[in-house]
Amino acid sequence: MRLAGKVAIVTGGGSGFGAGIVQAFADEGARVLVVDRDGAAAERVAAAIGASARAFTADVSRAAEVEAMVDAAQREHGRLDIVVNNAGVGHLPAPLETIDDETFDRIAAVNMRAIYLAARYAVPLFKAARAGVILNIASTGGVSPRPNLTWYNASKAWVIGATRGMAIELAPFGVRVNAINPVAGETPLLATFMGGDTEENRKRFVGSIPLGRLSTPHDIAMAAVFLCSDEASLVTGIAMEVDGGRCI
Ligand code: ADP
Repeated sequence: MRLAGKVAIVTGGGSGFGAGIVQAFADEGARVLVVDRDGAAAERVAAAIGASARAFTADVSRAAEVEAMVDAAQREHGRLDIVVNNAGVGHLPAPLETIDDETFDRIAAVNMRAIYLAARYAVPLFKAARAGVILNIASTGGVSPRPNLTWYNASKAWVIGATRGMAIELAPFGVRVNAINPVAGETPLLATFMGGDTEENRKRFVGSIPLGRLSTPHDIAMAAVFLCSDEASLVTGIAMEVDGGRCI
């Protein structure tokens, strides 16, 4: 049990990578607050796990809701050890000059501002405890962008930069901050990234991954367990690719 006794928040825990991370954390002994703006999805994931998971409905791009999320974990369990910033949004592939304000603002709010907000409310607790782990789910696109997802990829490059900045600033307080760069998996975002779920798009997409397959929530969750466990106590400021070699 590599996360025994730990209390974790997983945002976007209602589906995809987030749900996989919730399951793996619970399997490793953590108590998990499953946060999603889709409350029903969070409830389903929490119910499947049982007593060690609790659903919490929040839009993580809104300060008051992020504050309430951190309060809920702290109030219920009297501690907070891990925050996984996994909630994210993509956009349909499109030439960079055609992305409208609304799409850009949504990307910035969920992929970027939510990480800043989670830090604003969790870091004071972590500093007081002189311990804590933040894990940000970025993307291979933040390292090795492909055309027509420029603003999404840029938001993920920001996440990697934020991870490094937070890690260097929080290291003196015993707080570790890392990121994972997943290649896309079989989640609702996939069709978006492929430019539509056609057989041809799928073949081309999988063909760009040297190990020849998409990621699964389990692949990402295993890396997340390691980075959030004490086994990684000397690991901070990294962005770990879990990408089948896509970024080589
Ligand atoms: P991924 O491939 O990254 O796992 P998904 O679309 O399957 O993508 O999961 C993203 C999750 O994040 C969804 O459950 C979605 O409801 C959640 N989410 C997206 N935006 C927000 C937000 N602003 N606040 C909270 N949860 C969000």
